[in-house]
Amino acid sequence: MPHKYSVENIYQFTCSNCKGWWSFAQMNQIGFKPILPVKMQQNTTCPHCKHTDSALRFPVKENSFTGTAF
Ligand SMILES: [Zn+2]
Repeated sequence: MPHKYSVENIYQFTCSNCKGWWSFAQMNQIGFKPILPVKMQQNTTCPHCKHTDSALRFPVKENSFTGTAF
């Protein structure tokens, strides 16, 4: 019998306030697109300082602070 495995995506965050770091894992099922859920893009709360802010994928293009990620 073969070993079993699954794939998951890890989203790594750095707080815009305290610069603390945390991660969020999401199971990768067939057809899954690795995009942070819209609800989390709009409001994510830092587990360290409880600051809530939007989340922007990094790195972004230079001189691009309009919310457009690469
Ligand atoms: Zn924080």
